[in-house]
Amino acid sequence: MPIVVFDLDGTLVDQARAARLWAEEFVVEWALPDTVVDRVSAELTQRTSKDGLFEKLVSDLSLPISAGELWGAYRRRMPDLVRCTEEDKDALRKLRQAGWTLGIASNGATDNQEGKIRNTGLADLVDGWVISAEIGYRKPDPEIFQALARHLDCALDGWMIGDSLEHDVAGGSAAGLRTAWISPLQPSSPASEVRPTLIAPTVAEAAMMILSVGH
Ligand SMILES: [Mg+2]
Repeated sequence: MPIVVFDLDGTLVDQARAARLWAEEFVVEWALPDTVVDRVSAELTQRTSKDGLFEKLVSDLSLPISAGELWGAYRRRMPDLVRCTEEDKDALRKLRQAGWTLGIASNGATDNQEGKIRNTGLADLVDGWVISAEIGYRKPDPEIFQALARHLDCALDGWMIGDSLEHDVAGGSAAGLRTAWISPLQPSSPASEVRPTLIAPTVAEAAMMILSVGH
């Protein structure tokens, strides 16, 4: 059965909005200046490992807790703050009805990412997932896509849908997949050497295009 691989943050769930909500709560909890919200939410939305970020926050803001405690609090809270739209969930159901096997390949910490997948209901709408921290490979390494295909017991033949040109589009392409770039703000061509097969503003619209193309 052909596969559709999804990125999680910024693709199936609105990580940036959730990170801002977390930053707002964080500023209230620690009675920090409002200006900290912009800085923290921007840093939390960068597509890099969070290693070092919480250490810097604790140090710069002179917080009386450890970086590990703060990172743990973030990972526990984020699954409650992210959302997946009903349109995108419906698109997943339609893809599955059309015979596609659906999987998620996500860079991040296992508890945080799995918490998001379960709390949003995505766990029931896909066939499985792999998280970088658990398997030891991060996108764009093609090995993460191969690990997902092995986990789902299907060929790595199909599509990768994601919002990162570097991680999802270049990575998916290197793994032999066609690619859909989720770009809500830049519907035109990407200013990059990386060329996705198609560009769509949402997962729902990308799914409709894939369904119209067929296997
Ligand atoms: Mg992403």
